[in-house]
Amino acid sequence: MEEKTQGQLRREALLDVKKNGYDRLTAEDEVAMKAYCEDYKRFLDAGKTEREVVDEAVRLAQARGFVPFTRGMTVKPGDKFYRINRGKALMLAVIGEKSMADGVSIGAAHIDSPRLDLKPQPVYEDTELGYLKTHYYGGIRKYQWVAIPLELHGVIVKKDGSSVKVAIGTNPGDPVFTINDLLPHLAAEQSKKSLNEGITGEQLNLLVGSRPFKDDEGSERVKLAILDILNQKYGIVEADFISAELEVVPAFKASDVGFDRSLIGAYGQDDRVCGYACLAALLDTEVPTHTAVCMLADKEEVGSTGVSGMKSAAFDTFMSDLCDAQRVSLKSCYEHSFCLSADVTAAFDPCFPGPYEKRNSAYINYGVGFAKYTGSRGKGGSSDASAEVVGFVRRTMDAAGVIWQIAELGAVDAGGGGTVASMMAERDIDTLDAGTPVMAMHSPFEITSKLDCYMTYKGMKALYQHN
Ligand code: MN
Ligand code: MN
Repeated sequence: MEEKTQGQLRREALLDVKKNGYDRLTAEDEVAMKAYCEDYKRFLDAGKTEREVVDEAVRLAQARGFVPFTRGMTVKPGDKFYRINRGKALMLAVIGEKSMADGVSIGAAHIDSPRLDLKPQPVYEDTELGYLKTHYYGGIRKYQWVAIPLELHGVIVKKDGSSVKVAIGTNPGDPVFTINDLLPHLAAEQSKKSLNEGITGEQLNLLVGSRPFKDDEGSERVKLAILDILNQKYGIVEADFISAELEVVPAFKASDVGFDRSLIGAYGQDDRVCGYACLAALLDTEVPTHTAVCMLADKEEVGSTGVSGMKSAAFDTFMSDLCDAQRVSLKSCYEHSFCLSADVTAAFDPCFPGPYEKRNSAYINYGVGFAKYTGSRGKGGSSDASAEVVGFVRRTMDAAGVIWQIAELGAVDAGGGGTVASMMAERDIDTLDAGTPVMAMHSPFEITSKLDCYMTYKGMKALYQHN
């Protein structure tokens, strides 16, 4: 073998050469990755709303020995607890060997996704067609939500206080719904508009029927016939929509994408890809050194507001109740804790290179992405993790054999985004953004890579199991 030149040696010693994750993936990880991604796709199909994700996560947690945590319970290492916040957010913990005064390891992700919510008075008829009015939730590109099959999921609280769950489109043979676009033959004027204006918010009306109520001479016979079907099926009347949360979501199943099946296409991967990684890693954690906590938050897509969002005191109350069980102060726990704010990042898309900066982008198949900061216009709104925090994560990930990358979300001033990282950091918890790179983020069919999905899980597990 020829001796290496000085240049080769120095190159190896000094340069940070990036290698595709598939050139580094072990045979063992490849097997685990495939199994993990099958489970992940099932999880996506089972949970198309934050409520459904909570239900499914609780089902999985109970099967692994997690029990509801109530104030005043005693705790010991290895105990597994969960607490549901109003059916829409979920907190889980595995008690560690060390006292919570030495800090906990937190994986925090959000389980709400961009979608179309029904308005409180949604039902109407126009030209003998039945529609539901919607109000979009989160940052959608409106033109992407027309001319695709859609499902309706959610809950309706009736006048008497009883509630009924709705999930139309889930079961084989279910009908779907859609929002029409204009035919190209007549779209000359519409086509001149910008993408942003081509479809407006008030045009996002869901087509839900066309058959008039039979043998009736009155007006709005299609609307009446639809309400009659809903009354027979769910026992509801029109006014019950007032106290309902009904979400219109894409009617796509999670699928392998590509001849090589290396990618996953599905609705809602932002941020259920990280939510599932945090959850699955916690379920696979037996007796950690530090107590491991998984937070699955709601309302991130509208600013983490409200009683079920990351700003809610529900998280602090859960942590405080756990701390009380060990008679330690919440403040002491927080100041020694560490959080990976697990939220997706933008993967470089070679078909749209413009808004990315190639040297600092996340790439498909380069592993879980860490972001020192997010935000926009000069890191605005970002928690901007310290060098020490990033250093800790580097060491932890490398020691566990995690394939990872460091990235920004887009070029400077090209846009940006926020996560729950700042809310964790403001609680006096060291926090770093971490997440799976996604292409076509916030679209009805988002794309991730299996390798990156699995490495997000492996990274969360490394955090939960660090000493
Ligand atoms: Mn997100
Ligand atoms: Mn998002």
